[in-house]
Amino acid sequence: MNPETLEAQVVIVGAGGAGLAAAVVATAEKGLDVVVLEKRRKTGGNSTMAEGLFAAESVVQKRMKVDARRDELWRLAMEYSHWKLNARLWRTFIDKSGDTIEWLENKGLKFKVVPLFPNQVPLVWHCMEGGGTATAKVLEKECAAAGVRMLKETAARKILTDRKGGISGVIASAKNRELKIMAKSVIIATGGYAGNKELLKKYYPDYSEDMFCRGLPHMGDGLLMAIEAGAATEGLGILQLSGPNFPGNRDCGVVAQEPNTVWVNKRGERFVDEVMGYNHWESGNALTRQPEKISYSLFDERIKQRVTDEGIIKGWGLRVLSGTKLTDLDKKLQMEVAEGRVRIAGSWDEIAEWIGIKPAVLKATIDEYNAFCDDGYDRLFAKDRRYLDALRTPPYYAIRCQPSFMSTIGGIKINHRMEVLDHQDNPIPGLYAAGVDTGGWETDTYNAILSGTTYGFSMNSGRIAAENATEYVLEK
Ligand SMILES: Cc1cc2nc3c(=O)[nH]c(=O)nc-3n(C[C@H](O)[C@H](O)[C@H](O)COP(=O)(O)OP(=O)(O)OC[C@H]3O[C@@H](n4cnc5c(N)ncnc54)[C@H](O)[C@@H]3O)c2cc1C
Repeated sequence: MNPETLEAQVVIVGAGGAGLAAAVVATAEKGLDVVVLEKRRKTGGNSTMAEGLFAAESVVQKRMKVDARRDELWRLAMEYSHWKLNARLWRTFIDKSGDTIEWLENKGLKFKVVPLFPNQVPLVWHCMEGGGTATAKVLEKECAAAGVRMLKETAARKILTDRKGGISGVIASAKNRELKIMAKSVIIATGGYAGNKELLKKYYPDYSEDMFCRGLPHMGDGLLMAIEAGAATEGLGILQLSGPNFPGNRDCGVVAQEPNTVWVNKRGERFVDEVMGYNHWESGNALTRQPEKISYSLFDERIKQRVTDEGIIKGWGLRVLSGTKLTDLDKKLQMEVAEGRVRIAGSWDEIAEWIGIKPAVLKATIDEYNAFCDDGYDRLFAKDRRYLDALRTPPYYAIRCQPSFMSTIGGIKINHRMEVLDHQDNPIPGLYAAGVDTGGWETDTYNAILSGTTYGFSMNSGRIAAENATEYVLEK
């Protein structure tokens, strides 16, 4: 089939958070002629699932008298990563982040800065009414009004370069047509490779098929096309990891992460201070070190009753608020028993048998933990004494958990202008990348103190990429 040829000044590949933000800047603000390619029927990507984004010194923080200084948070990001991050890239991101909140507020979105975990200081997680879905709707509407050609169900397949190595366009496929879109600049924002098992195995040595993806199964198209166009890579093999997580119904997953439950591995041993569940990225790291990366959240009838009658302690962001009563928990646990993912038993011996360990081993773990509760001191992991609740009231419950991940992070090497770099660290003329397709802004573990950096980086890097792509296109 002969491809149909289109012309544009900029092609944006992917209409998630990064792509939509880039499209609004390039058209509504800079007046360029833009084509956006979106593989799915709907825009928004994983960004629709986000609750909030990171920002420092925003208008919202100022109104709420939250002291969140860019300099301090930038240093915190660098130190958390042992200075493995691209310092200039992080600086550019953090400097833009406050302005991005104002930019979105001016489009009608309403924000609150809320804690991701108790006593979080400073508050940086800017949650918008309606979540990422509302943001995507607002941005898509603005794209339409500004004349963006939004081609849905159209996947970019190849980035075209000219003889001098600069960008000349994109080849894309839709259901009934092939497209060749000529453009001086391309912005890649395809959201990573969480659905591509081959790439996961190649880049993430700890990957196993038991780890489940809570986001969309993106295939790494942007990364692969960039590599083919001569891009270098950076920060491959980072997962936005989370755990212990439950692959079944949500309420069982919520109770499994309560801080007063007890987490044991396949050997029946505790492996972490369970309060770490407040930072489920770091507890995800602890879990991936365990045999088969499996854990069991254990609790007793008293804890279950409290969750049902008085409400949960931890909460899951704004989706399930702390204090929510899981009134249907009994029914949901029973459903999961039928699936073989939960066990309810009159004795710990039965639970041990289900896990596949000697009853004496689990008994020793529970006896030791109960003794810590009686003493008010966890001699093993110094768990906060407020959550030391002895497990002595049958029936006993065990929920089988695994690590999960929301998306991959990293891949295409960029500089602080979001220019894609080649193997000599030189920008490939006209090629930009944004969002989780890129590397250099996150090391191995998501920094929970800077909550909302993934979505935050997508929105900010999308804006910055479009500003620089515009400059490039107009100068050429
Ligand atoms: C359940 C959940 C909750 C989350 N909550 C938060 C949160 O509160 N805060 C936070 O910071 N992060 C959160 N995240 C992560 C965050 O939402 C995303 O990682 C981030 O927003 C990704 O943005 P992106 O633009 O890079 O990719 P996406 O938003 O995923 O967009 C990529 C787009 O590219 C399209 N695409 C792919 N290949 C092609 C192709 N070949 N051609 C054309 N289009 C293509 C995809 O269909 C998609 O629409 C959450 C993730 C999940 C799953």
